[in-house]
Order: sequence, then structure tokens, then C-alpha cells
Amino acid sequence: MTRHKRMAAVIGSGPNGLAAAIALAQAGLEVTVYEKHDVIGGGCRSLELIQKGYIHDVCSTVHLQVKLSPFFRKLPLEEFGLRWVTPPLALANPFDDGTAAVVSQSMADTVATLDSVDEKAYARLMSRPASQSQELMDEIMRFPGIPLRHPFLMMNFGRRALTSTTELARSLFEGKRARALIAGMGAHSGMELEQRGSFASGFLMGITAHSNGWPFPEGGSQRTVDALAGFLTKLGGKIVTGCEVKSLEQLPPYDVVLLDVTPRQFLKMAEGRLPSSYIGKLERYRYGCGAFKCDWLLDGPIPWKASECCKANTVHIGGYLEEMAAAESEVNQQKHPEKPLVILTQPSLFDRSRAKGDAHVVYGYCHVPNGSTFDMAERIEAQIERFAPGFRDRIIGRHTMSTADLERHNPNCVGGDFLGGAQSLRKLILPPVSYETPIGNAFLCSSSTPPSPGVHGMCGFRAAQTAIRKLGISSQ
Ligand SMILES: Cc1cc2nc3c(=O)[nH]c(=O)nc-3n(C[C@H](O)[C@H](O)[C@H](O)COP(=O)(O)OP(=O)(O)OC[C@H]3O[C@@H](n4cnc5c(N)ncnc54)[C@H](O)[C@@H]3O)c2cc1C
Repeated sequence: MTRHKRMAAVIGSGPNGLAAAIALAQAGLEVTVYEKHDVIGGGCRSLELIQKGYIHDVCSTVHLQVKLSPFFRKLPLEEFGLRWVTPPLALANPFDDGTAAVVSQSMADTVATLDSVDEKAYARLMSRPASQSQELMDEIMRFPGIPLRHPFLMMNFGRRALTSTTELARSLFEGKRARALIAGMGAHSGMELEQRGSFASGFLMGITAHSNGWPFPEGGSQRTVDALAGFLTKLGGKIVTGCEVKSLEQLPPYDVVLLDVTPRQFLKMAEGRLPSSYIGKLERYRYGCGAFKCDWLLDGPIPWKASECCKANTVHIGGYLEEMAAAESEVNQQKHPEKPLVILTQPSLFDRSRAKGDAHVVYGYCHVPNGSTFDMAERIEAQIERFAPGFRDRIIGRHTMSTADLERHNPNCVGGDFLGGAQSLRKLILPPVSYETPIGNAFLCSSSTPPSPGVHGMCGFRAAQTAIRKLGISSQ
């Protein structure tokens, strides 16, 4: 008797949805991905936002975690068109005096941009974990319950990661430059820099910047998800775009359904099928700050005062630690900082396939309160102008995205929150939602689930493994 292939549906084609789909297809299931938008990719889409021929990343640009992800790094994505660009510097942090602190793969070049009093302490913080960054990534991304292979490495990471960004910066460094560098890294957490746990994601990003640089896909972040989709298709998976799943009832019967959506969306999709205790848990799920994002088309590169900024794709703009911490703190108090901390990327400096002639594509975003309707474009541009006089004169096109625009672009950005939920120390230790749901064959797999936000696919991969184990599916 021939056994029918098991059928799986994946709702959402972000990196986690595609990771889940690939893992299920590799286990022998017949997989269909349903994506609301006409273009796949979620937080990895690239669009000609301003003018034809100029490619902007609508959300993520730096895909360092794709290269280090225990799942993605084993996939043959280069065969599906993925090429990497690694700028000379991972990141630069300019100051008002026209200089900058930088993060380079070379520790000597990095510490040379700090106050000399902090050189040794900075190297002590980063060098050792950077020499074992792959092992560290594997430990952080592993399933809970699997014994640690490198307990000392994790212990060393954990004692730094679980502290607050400001406390760590002030206790380890005397000079303003190293403290600023640390503050900019911590800002990627979307947390107040005084909060414990706010250095965790930034610490990992800093470590990998030293070991691998901050690579990004040539041609736009879309190339990463297109390569994942190419591989999925080769495995026999199908992708249906322009199909919003409003209710699970709308799907034909599947053996398993993986949901690359956040708790609030799942509540709506599963209406009438969830017990009240679980509904209460999802209703209590907290979303974090939003983002206000500007994309620009420039008629030349940004005229940075500090020449080092021209060698980095990512630039953290906000001066020294005190100013950065104050800006992030205001956001947490539901205010809009006069001088926001801006995270900027300028990929066309290193990847000429994104723009033509002398033109450049650049984006900058800052945190804002969840659901904010305030237009931060003027304040973001003023911050860049401060460190790059003449920046505004270079602008030939501008595209802005409020929190509502972000959510329209991607329904997972609830209130503009692009980290899948509010980040906190508690969430790092005890994730509030996991993969399994009270609907036996439905599993959450978005960045609201462990291990963390970012483009590494491990939420999707781990959710798929959970489903495979729970349903007793084996490779066919
Ligand atoms: C401005 C910005 C900059 C960022 N920069 C970086 C960066 O440099 N590096 C990094 O690693 N991360 C970055 N991120 C975060 C990164 O984009 C996310 O962590 C990542 O995309 C999350 O992946 P995901 O698969 O969980 O969800 P998403 O990428 O959000 O994908 C979810 C998908 O599901 C679809 N969907 C939702 N509901 C439905 C439905 N009902 N029916 C059908 N489809 C549905 C959505 O349309 C979307 O395509 C950034 C995000 C933003 C907004």
C-alpha cells in the first residue's frame, strides 16, 4: 500500500517561515508556503522604493547571522545566487569632533580608535569570544535542554550579556569612545540601555563583527530569501504569494501548520479554537518599541566628517553613551527624542549593484514608541547632518515609513515593533511563548519564539523540529 506524503502549510515567508518550510521539506513533507504579500521575504524584502533601478532594503540589511546560523550556514544558498559583501569596517560611531570609533575585524585597528586607557579592556571583552564566535552562536541557538558543549564560553558570555549596557560600559571603560561603541551595540536590543539584558544581542553582534565582519547580501536582502525560496522549490516546496491567511479554517486540511506570525495575529487566525488560559497568555504578550525609518536616494556618498565612516556599512549616530541612553530612555517613556539614536546603513558604498552612476541608497531608522504617528524624518536628518555636514544637499529622493507603514508592509511589525515582541531579561531567560500551541498540529515559528529576533532562521528550524518530533514524522 502506498503511503501518502504528509502535507505541511507554512503561513508567512519571512526567514523563519522559509527555514521551517525547508526543514519540513527535508523531512519529506509536501510543503506549501502562503504569503500575504506579492513578494516573499517579510523583513528581508528589497524594493525600488524611490526610483526604478535603485534597490532599498525595506527592513534588514546585515545578514551576519545567516552566515553563522547552525541551520542556514549548511544550506547551499550560493548555488541559488547568494553572494556576500563584507565592508572593510563592520561599524562606525562618529563624534562631534570629527573622529569616530570603529569596529574592525582587526582588534588593533579597533582599539586604535578608542581612548588609550580602554584599549586592553576592550580587547579583553571581545577577543576571546570572537575567536570562538561560531561555537558561541551554536550554543546560543541550540535547543534548550541539550547539554552545553562550551559551558565556560557561555558562562563568560552570559555574565556580560545579562547585565545592562550602561552598567557594562561604565564599569569596564573610562573613556567616552569605548562607552559609546558599547551603547550603539546595545541599542539593537530595542530596550532601554539601563535595562538588564540590554547588552545581550549587541554583545553577540559585536563579537561576530570582530570575527566575521558584518556581511550583507549583494543586490539586497531580498537575495537571501530568494536563495532560500530557490532551495525550497528544488526540494519540491511551493510558495503561494498574495494570499493572506485570515483564519486557519481557510486552509485545506494539513498534517501540520507552521505560523510565521506573532501572538496577536495567531489569536485572530485561531479564533474559537483556543482555550481561555492560552488566549489570556497571548493577550498579555507585550510588543516593544516601534521604528521610524527613512530611505534616501543621494547624488553621492554621505560627506562624513570622520573618514572612517566611509568604510563601514553600519553607522551608529548619537554621539556618546549619555546622549544615546537618554534617547532610548525617552522612547521607553513614550516620548520622541529630539536627538534620536539613528542606526544607518549605506550598502551601495560597497555594493554597486544597488545603485547607478554616482548615486547611493541609504537608510536610517530610530526607535519610537509602539504605534507612534510622529514624523521623525527631520530629527533623523538633523542627526546625520551633525556628523556629515552637506548630507541634506545630497538628497534627491526620500521615502519614510512610520510604525503604521511598517505594519502595512509586514503585519508581523505590530505597532512598528520589528523584533517580534518587547525584549527583556525575563524574555531572554523564560521566553513567554514557544512553538507548541493548544492546536495539536499548529506551531508558532516567528521571531516571537526562541531563540531571538534576527535573520538566522533558527525560530523556524526549531519549530519545524518540534513539529516533526511531536507528530512522529520521519524522513521518507
Ligand atoms: C528596519 C529594520 C531593520 C532590520 N535590520 C536587521 C538586520 O540588519 N539584521 C537582522 O538580522 N535583522 C534585522 N531586522 C529584523 C529582521 O527583519 C526580523 O528579525 C526577521 O525578518 C524576522 O523574521 P520572521 O521570519 O520571524 O518574520 P518576518 O520577516 O516578519 O516575516 C513574516 C512574514 O509573514 C507574512 N505574514 C504575516 N501574517 C500573514 C498572514 N496572515 N498570511 C500570510 N502571510 C502572513 C508577512 O507578510 C511576512 O512576509 C530588521 C527589521 C527592521 C524592520
